[in-house]
Amino acid sequence: VNNTGLHIKRLCLIGVGLIGGSLVRALRRADAVDEIVGCGRSRASLETARELGVIDHIEPDPAKAVAGADVVVIAVPLGAMQNIFTAIAPALAADTLLTDVGSAKASVVAAAKKAFGELPAGFVPGHPIAGTEKSGVQASFAELFEGRRVILTPTAQSSASAIAHTRALWQACGAEVVEMDISHHDEVLAATSHLPHMLAYSLVDMLARREDSQEIFDYAAGGFRDFSRIASSDPTMWHDITLANREALASLLEQFSMDLQKLAAAAREGDSDYLRNIFTRAKQARDRYEIKDTR
Ligand code: NAP
Repeated sequence: VNNTGLHIKRLCLIGVGLIGGSLVRALRRADAVDEIVGCGRSRASLETARELGVIDHIEPDPAKAVAGADVVVIAVPLGAMQNIFTAIAPALAADTLLTDVGSAKASVVAAAKKAFGELPAGFVPGHPIAGTEKSGVQASFAELFEGRRVILTPTAQSSASAIAHTRALWQACGAEVVEMDISHHDEVLAATSHLPHMLAYSLVDMLARREDSQEIFDYAAGGFRDFSRIASSDPTMWHDITLANREALASLLEQFSMDLQKLAAAAREGDSDYLRNIFTRAKQARDRYEIKDTR
């Protein structure tokens, strides 16, 4: 139910996939939007989105798609953001609310600066902390953001009313909205989301390259399933996220490999205290997190 008072006449969604599709489904369910124009890469995906009722109209040209929209949401992979900003910059009306859903924020803001020069007052970068390992509009659903957090990283130019409207947009989807500094967002997300994806991809790849990989996967149990689920995420999306947040991520990966080396040494030497300490500390931390996560 939309109790935020938000009412969008025409929303332009550029990138009608899992996140963008779920966002507009949720806005429709909340009766917060009248008309949705979808823009993207392949005609086939946009046709599917229209058949599913996720968008009302198709406009493949980003500059034409933003015309007359009161809200523009960009939900393409990070590597595609620059071209989209460049294409819409000359066509965007001054009072349009512009937001994105990219998983790293400094690179998005840099791309917007390059395209716009002075950042528009209506631009409020955002990142929903929700998703699945699936991609595409077929995987989108209205409940994706319910009870989940959305981080807004306003720029120095973002106006108070644009920030308030972006908040209302996500609240209408059932999300809890918080604000964060751009570089702080990228550091926090490198640790909580980007690093775990690197570990999952790297573990599954290492095992898959072994000669006995078939047997390993045949006998893999629940632990492997839980740990490896996110390695089915879209490779292009994660390629783009890794490059966009490479400095923060590389530092964490280096720190993690040093810890792994210590663990390997402790295992080889049978250092029982070291192993017990690590596992006990980690279990306590994970149990505390579980309580917080299910609150
Ligand atoms: P997705 O399901 O693959 O959707 C991406 C959409 O963008 C697709 O419709 C795709 O079109 C379109 N697209 C791709 N390249 C394009 C280009 N060069 N120009 C125009 N459109 C293009 O991906 P998603 O999971 O929704 O991710 C979208 C954004 O959300 C990314 O920036 C990601 O970092 C962010 N995000 C993702 C998650 C998550 O868990 N998935 C969570 C939070 C934020 P086609 O149909 O032609 O491929």
